Amino acid sequence: MTTVVASAGLAVNERVEIRRNRITGKSSKTPSGKRVCIVTGTHGDELEGQYVCAETARILNENLSQLNGTVDIYPAINPLGIDSITRGIPLFDLDMNRIFPGTSEGTMAESLAMDIISDISGADICIDIHSSNIYLKEIPQIRINEITADELIPYAKMLNCDFIWIHSSATVLESTLAFSLNTTGTKTLVVEMGVGMRITKEYCRQLTAGIFNMLKNLGMWESTVYKGLHRVGI
Ligand SMILES: [Zn+2]
Repeated sequence: MTTVVASAGLAVNERVEIRRNRITGKSSKTPSGKRVCIVTGTHGDELEGQYVCAETARILNENLSQLNGTVDIYPAINPLGIDSITRGIPLFDLDMNRIFPGTSEGTMAESLAMDIISDISGADICIDIHSSNIYLKEIPQIRINEITADELIPYAKMLNCDFIWIHSSATVLESTLAFSLNTTGTKTLVVEMGVGMRITKEYCRQLTAGIFNMLKNLGMWESTVYKGLHRVGI
């Protein structure tokens, strides 16, 4: 079910709307009560996450009886950016990933950021998918702030990526979606892969397999459908 979780009026009789696609499983087993969030489209010129969201939703919807719990997909946190393939919020040239956790007292973008955080908060795990820029192709990797490394590494290993990069605590990271969620108790992993403005399908399939591997490890996925996607060593 698609729901608008944050919205604001624009200058000329239009609205910016951030949507969540909630997929609830129909497993016959005791409900796990677990919820996983997949977030992308924070930077509108990073498109790999679009493919991962579409593919994940497709597999889940075709196998709802295998899903025990809820998967919330947020394909376009910066919908104006995605629509125009612009990294920031168009016209403002504002990096959406530098305004979290947001505030209801601030600008339109800060208000949207606050509503996004409040909707994701409380999930068992959140995966925030990014791409590289147009000049650089990066292998699928997880980026973790060293402050949260101990609790996140076990989950990062499930995601079928080639590399886990633990950052030192840089001030600039503190205004990101992932930092805001992690410091308020919602475990969030940042994935970076591919090239800006392109979709590297093999990387997308590799991460999608990792997402289903994680769901399986969380007790939310009873099928082995994902194993055909791309090498998962389990
Ligand atoms: Zn990004």
